[in-house]
Amino acid sequence: MTAPPPLTAPETCDIAVIGGGPAGSTAAALLARRGRRVVLLDKDRHPRFHIGESLLPRNLAIFDRLGVRSRVHALGTFKPGAEFVCDKSGRQVTFSFASGLDRRYTHCYQVPRAAFDATLLDTARASGATVLEATRVHDVAFAADGTARLRAQCGDGQERAFAARFVLDASGRDCLLARKFGLRVADKRINSAAVYGHFRNVEARTDERAGCVSVHLVKDGWFWMIPLPGDIMSVGFVSGPAAFKDRAGGMQELLMARVAASPSVAARMRAAEPVGEIVGTGNYSYRTRAGWGEGWMLLGDAFGFLDPVFSSGVLLAMASAELGAEVAETWLDDPAAARTLARRADRRLRRAMDELSWLIGRINDPVLRGMLLAPRNLLHMRDGLVSVLAGHFLYERPGFGLPLAMFKATYYLLAGARRLGVRTIAP
Ligand SMILES: Cc1cc2nc3c(=O)[nH]c(=O)nc-3n(C[C@H](O)[C@H](O)[C@H](O)COP(=O)(O)OP(=O)(O)OC[C@H]3O[C@@H](n4cnc5c(N)ncnc54)[C@H](O)[C@@H]3O)c2cc1C
Repeated sequence: MTAPPPLTAPETCDIAVIGGGPAGSTAAALLARRGRRVVLLDKDRHPRFHIGESLLPRNLAIFDRLGVRSRVHALGTFKPGAEFVCDKSGRQVTFSFASGLDRRYTHCYQVPRAAFDATLLDTARASGATVLEATRVHDVAFAADGTARLRAQCGDGQERAFAARFVLDASGRDCLLARKFGLRVADKRINSAAVYGHFRNVEARTDERAGCVSVHLVKDGWFWMIPLPGDIMSVGFVSGPAAFKDRAGGMQELLMARVAASPSVAARMRAAEPVGEIVGTGNYSYRTRAGWGEGWMLLGDAFGFLDPVFSSGVLLAMASAELGAEVAETWLDDPAAARTLARRADRRLRRAMDELSWLIGRINDPVLRGMLLAPRNLLHMRDGLVSVLAGHFLYERPGFGLPLAMFKATYYLLAGARRLGVRTIAP
């Protein structure tokens, strides 16, 4: 245990939340509404750019609990499903959320994250949390009695100190506590980097696919196209390290070269003009070896990060925040009960991430691609897949397990046959 740094009169609270993204704002709002003294510290000033604009239907239930659904509706594009397009075969398939196993949540939204994240942060503030922007936490130490001491630097260079009985780390990919405790482990099985930006004049879908996220499958990776309000299309390319090694030029050249190499993407981007910078994110799939400890818990990307092909990040962040809020509140009165809750939450999040990883790790596999592009609804396998795409992987409901188990069993059967040289299904 690290000795706490000497502090002069730290500001005290029940729970300190590090980070004001979807995870931190959700947890802070829920705890403040329950009458807890919450301080949320974010290093940025909102609104600020963030990637990750495609949301999942299961998020609607959390929006309802926070009371923000109408505000999210007003700032986003209506998203009825997900479209997959394959360059190799020219095949295209659209999964409508309305055909999933859970018919309560059959749409969601594509949102500009600057406005979406600012809405959630406002909600935390309006719920009674003390929200400090432009305040970077640079040190967290836990005293023997479990009290946490946080040190932060404000935008004007001033140092502030906080004492909290519980810390929720929602610092995103910065992984403040996981790095401090050496808990972050890279997931090498999953695609490793992305390059992306916003564009104008990209051909949007105008038929029943209007508003859908498009996933264009190419030889060594995939593109996303996410239609945002104001004729903006978020476009990104995700692949393994080879695609990013030995590149000539900057991120924009890299992205445009990959666009040009994909007939289906190039056709939609003939007249495209970038809006703002094209950026890259590397080394990006990871897990943490432990998600909680005495007086702390990790939320959202600070807990783990998966390749975004199924747009799962914001849902995982907000769902983990709901679980984290329960753990933090319980900790204040009954640490033993909170440990049990934390163990349960950790298991549930890891199980959901494992379920998704199974699919994500095979997204470049010809058998999986073939099944995705020609899904059969035998034993509701297709409906089960739609339910994964809608975000139901986090919530166990009777009847959801069998279709996915069938999908996996079929995959292993076809992959085995393919290894024996039997031609079964191809993308
Ligand atoms: C290329 C790419 C594409 C993606 N696409 C999608 C998608 O389509 N759909 C989807 O759902 N998800 C997507 N994601 C994932 C999604 O963006 C994240 O999962 C989501 O933002 C996680 O929310 P969070 O609150 O955990 O972290 P964040 O949203 O990253 O918020 C973390 C906050 O912590 C603050 N912070 C960090 N360090 C400190 C510190 N030391 N002190 C104070 N504050 C700090 C930051 O300023 C930030 O505001 C994508 C991610 C990537 C990289």
